Amino acid sequence: MGVKVLIIGNGIAGVTLAKELSKDFEVIIVERETLPYYNKPMLSHYIAGLVDEKALFPYSREWYLKNSINLNLGVEAKIIDRARKKLVTSKGEFNYDILVLATGARAREPATKGKEHLMTLRTFEDAERIKNILENEGEAVIIGGGFIGLELAGNLSKVGYEVKLIHRRDTFLGLDGELSNIIMQKLEEFGVRFYLNTNLVKAEENGIQTDKGYIKGKLKICAFGIVPNRELAVRSGIHAGRGILIDDQFRTSAQNIYAIGDCAEYGGIICGTAKASMEHARVLANILRGKMDSYDFKFRSTIFKFADLPIAIIGNTKGEGVWIGDNVKVFVDENFVAGAVIFEDLRMVSKLEKLIKDKITIDQLR
Ligand SMILES: Cc1cc2nc3c(=O)[nH]c(=O)nc-3n(C[C@H](O)[C@H](O)[C@H](O)COP(=O)(O)OP(=O)(O)OC[C@H]3O[C@@H](n4cnc5c(N)ncnc54)[C@H](O)[C@@H]3O)c2cc1C
Repeated sequence: MGVKVLIIGNGIAGVTLAKELSKDFEVIIVERETLPYYNKPMLSHYIAGLVDEKALFPYSREWYLKNSINLNLGVEAKIIDRARKKLVTSKGEFNYDILVLATGARAREPATKGKEHLMTLRTFEDAERIKNILENEGEAVIIGGGFIGLELAGNLSKVGYEVKLIHRRDTFLGLDGELSNIIMQKLEEFGVRFYLNTNLVKAEENGIQTDKGYIKGKLKICAFGIVPNRELAVRSGIHAGRGILIDDQFRTSAQNIYAIGDCAEYGGIICGTAKASMEHARVLANILRGKMDSYDFKFRSTIFKFADLPIAIIGNTKGEGVWIGDNVKVFVDENFVAGAVIFEDLRMVSKLEKLIKDKITIDQLR
């Protein structure tokens, strides 16, 4: 028998790692949901009716079998018995040589009065519930202008639903006013109504009270960010902060136990995106195969699509920006290109990622 890698969580981090390792290791996944892997970034497309259910599920149960990945659905990991190298679950015990926590995160719940009238979006089940109400109501109030709120607003408005987006700031995603306005204008073209610098005070069945007045709407979805699933690690005596604490090789405080994806925290950073989670899995796969590799947590690079507007945010996008062409704004730190935001045509993303990492100057880029 080969080395046994036990992965907890069948999200994009867990499934990517399993795919990478299945040829060289005995791979077991334990997942508390009863569905095979589904694509979370596509959930708002599904709610809007832009794709059908099938498009969310790229890997069938047969695919796992064919790739020799032992998938255990409907199994909740309860505690890691590190002394015996066993995982205790709702359906018995699993042995491991190497254990990987890929437990992801959940949506941050609103703490507001009347929160029972608010929904959040993280799972397929959440998406089904939202879709059902939306199809009856024809309109939605989205509270929170992070990438999930913007994505959802874009897709719903694109197919003709009436969408109101409440945001506590007047800029988005940590970007400057000019870039934020480009995103906002694009969504407004599709009919999204923005309520900026507006805070939620109280939710009711038929609307919300904000500090700028009452906004009507039966379907109200909060997109307030994520809370990493760290409880299993904490119960098992593994160090955690906001997420499960790791080094740049994904090692937790416990021997032979790693953490990747949305549950992992490095130096105060929780990546929180599908792209980063896949990269974590690929780097960890290299490390477990004995190759030298590490992940640069300080360098962010994300891709989103808001309505019809694809956008990539790379590196450090603070400070003064300079446009290079119509669709790329770069940010400079002491003459070196430190970051960039690209709209529309994203073919340049990997090239720019590399150039920024290689520390080229703005003159070299021009
Ligand atoms: C609506 C939406 C849109 C998004 N859009 C984008 C986008 O455009 N671009 C982008 O890069 N990212 C996007 N994201 C973020 C992206 O989906 C997440 O970063 C990614 O899913 C994280 O993957 P993960 O595998 O770490 O965690 P998850 O996907 O959360 O998977 C973790 C899995 O672990 C399981 N689990 C947890 N605890 C246990 C336990 N004790 N026992 C057994 N199983 C357990 C959970 O059930 C879950 O299936 C979006 C997310 C949402 C919700």
